[in-house]
Amino acid sequence: MSLDVTALRQQFPILKTQIDGKPLIYLDNAATTQKPQAVIDALVEFYTTCNANVHRGSHHLSDEATRRYEKARTTVARFINANVNEEVIWTSGTTESLNIVAHGLAQKLQSGDEVIITEMEHHANLVTWQQACIKSGASLVVIPISEDGELDLAKFKAALNNRTKLVAFPHVSNALGTINPIKEMTAMAKAAGALVSVDGAQGIAHGGVDVQAIGCDFYSFSGHKLFGPTGIGCLWGRKDVLEDWPIWQTGGEMIADVEYQQTTFGTLPFRLEAGTPNISGAIGMAAAIDWFMGLDQHAIQTHEKALLTRANELAADMQGLRLIGTAKNKVGIMSFLLDGAHPADIGFILDRQGIAIRTGDNCAQPLMKRLNIPGTARASFSIYNTIEEVEAFFRALKKAQTMLA
Ligand SMILES: *Cc1c(COP(=O)(O)O)cnc(C)c1O
Repeated sequence: MSLDVTALRQQFPILKTQIDGKPLIYLDNAATTQKPQAVIDALVEFYTTCNANVHRGSHHLSDEATRRYEKARTTVARFINANVNEEVIWTSGTTESLNIVAHGLAQKLQSGDEVIITEMEHHANLVTWQQACIKSGASLVVIPISEDGELDLAKFKAALNNRTKLVAFPHVSNALGTINPIKEMTAMAKAAGALVSVDGAQGIAHGGVDVQAIGCDFYSFSGHKLFGPTGIGCLWGRKDVLEDWPIWQTGGEMIADVEYQQTTFGTLPFRLEAGTPNISGAIGMAAAIDWFMGLDQHAIQTHEKALLTRANELAADMQGLRLIGTAKNKVGIMSFLLDGAHPADIGFILDRQGIAIRTGDNCAQPLMKRLNIPGTARASFSIYNTIEEVEAFFRALKKAQTMLA
């Protein structure tokens, strides 16, 4: 069965938006995805019927809020095939998840230790480790990529040694669209005795993430790139690793016993979740996952591939367009430059035609410097985009090219 995109689009109220009388064409999905009615309803329903704090009250509403909040954790755990629920820590998003890992790592690192990252990192998966290394005197080792935007696996393997304490890489690059061979990379890093942390902010949106099959120690992701709300995300970590990971924030909820001069911290998952959590966000994120898993996974993957294939055909036909990131294994993220045009001007002209893209450094300044470019324009496709929208985008791009020539 092919995907009924028209029916799918009906579930996203925002896609009916007009910009200056022109229908919105939303191609900034790698920055954040739009939300289906099911997610919007879940948020409204929570606040309408059972808003209360969790794990605290001795009353009906609190019990119900707690039940739904913990059920949401189960939904996430199943979605990524976690071994047990306690391995799923609620965070405000990928950035906070990575900070929990880096903050703990900084306490374990010593001078002479090494942390490996790649040239294709988002700042969230770079500044975190860089700061942990600065604090501890460890070295940050950066694995190069090819001109196509693929990781040099031979160099990756060669860089691993008994000083390597942690290896961090993205499942999917937000700037290049590259899908990394994360199972293979994890196996190599584990063989060297290193911990492995995967930045799953982009990878999660394409489904099929199985943390046990990947074999990593940490996998971080956000709700908002997966059709869920902003301000909620998860850190998944292997239970034995998380159990003695240095605590992150302190306060209510994360404790077992408190006295004036000392505290016994709680058990997983609470020891890494201080304070009142984002309850509605967790419930909204679970609603997004339920909604997403209700779709025919094969059909959405086929549709996503078709969007990228059509975009690649049109890009190949367009003089003066240079694609940034042409890895063999890619998601529907298309970064590009037009000869003689500044990305910001391209974005402005497209916006006048109702088309939303990203322009700039893609939160990856060192990668832009490595590629010798100031930044890119980036169109990123999601399952609710249509082939017609991809074609309209290229028509608008040609117009921009003429105007900026
Ligand atoms: C979006 C993104 C992040 C950061 O996610 P937040 O939701 O902003 O915390 C990290 N890495 C990659 C690859 C991303 O695309």
